[in-house]
Amino acid sequence: MTHVELADGIHVVVGGSFPRCNSIVIIDEEVVVIDPGCGIEDLRAFLMTKNLALNNIGTVILSHIHPDHITHAARLNRLSRCRIAANEITAPLFNDKEKMKEFLGFHRANPVRPLWERLVNSKMFGALEEGHIDEELGDGDKFALGKHTLRMLYTPGHLPDHMCIEILEPNLVFAADIDLTEFGPYYGHPNSSIPEFQDSIMRLQHNDYDGLISGHLGSPLVKDYKTALASYQRKIEIREDLVLAAIMNGAGSVPEITLNPIIYPSLTDPVFLQFETWMIEHHVNSLLSRGLIEEKKKRYVAL
Ligand SMILES: [Zn+2]
Repeated sequence: MTHVELADGIHVVVGGSFPRCNSIVIIDEEVVVIDPGCGIEDLRAFLMTKNLALNNIGTVILSHIHPDHITHAARLNRLSRCRIAANEITAPLFNDKEKMKEFLGFHRANPVRPLWERLVNSKMFGALEEGHIDEELGDGDKFALGKHTLRMLYTPGHLPDHMCIEILEPNLVFAADIDLTEFGPYYGHPNSSIPEFQDSIMRLQHNDYDGLISGHLGSPLVKDYKTALASYQRKIEIREDLVLAAIMNGAGSVPEITLNPIIYPSLTDPVFLQFETWMIEHHVNSLLSRGLIEEKKKRYVAL
């Protein structure tokens, strides 16, 4: 277990890269955990260093419905009787995991669904268990816990329910999956949106924080986050150029484009082929809307 103290009472327990994620732990009049994806044992080990235990956790806040971020929430609720809070889009999905699966594109007719469920069940403990959201937090809502105040900031695109959480003292933002990783922005579900992701990146760039906390970086605090966001955003354009190049070289459909994967170059897993396919579909739609390609006789051609 590694952790970083960002300020008095504000800590990150480092989960790191997918399928784990970084968890924020705020120790104030109440102990609050944002996204328990670091794993319950690491959370327990960290709390012990502060003479606290899991049953001292008062509230778990979820940034969005992705399994790597909600993993362990239901178990924490059982162990500590903590409340679970999420925004009004995430809440009904957390309360009904069939709705969550459909929201993520894994409806019953999707042949990849059993493999995805196996991946989630093996790597993201309890993420598909039924649970209950106790408190809904909307865009701009504040959550006060003594010396610290949190404020919710909707940042859709990655998924429609994605939100960042501003920590008003000491002026930081937990940006969840606007994570500034080398991989770049992830929009691998049917309801993800490249334009909304770009708007959300711009929204963070316009706000002046003292630092951005990534949901997945091993060194989670990024002080020069505006520069980092600019190169993060550029990965979208690079991918779009690669998709356009593939179409110019004769790939006329999404399956033909994914024969040479762009997002996951060493792709072997059918679940990741599904994510690749959804991401490429977003790029194809973007190229169509920008008038750079068109569909002729059910094949994409460059203009
Ligand atoms: Zn996510």
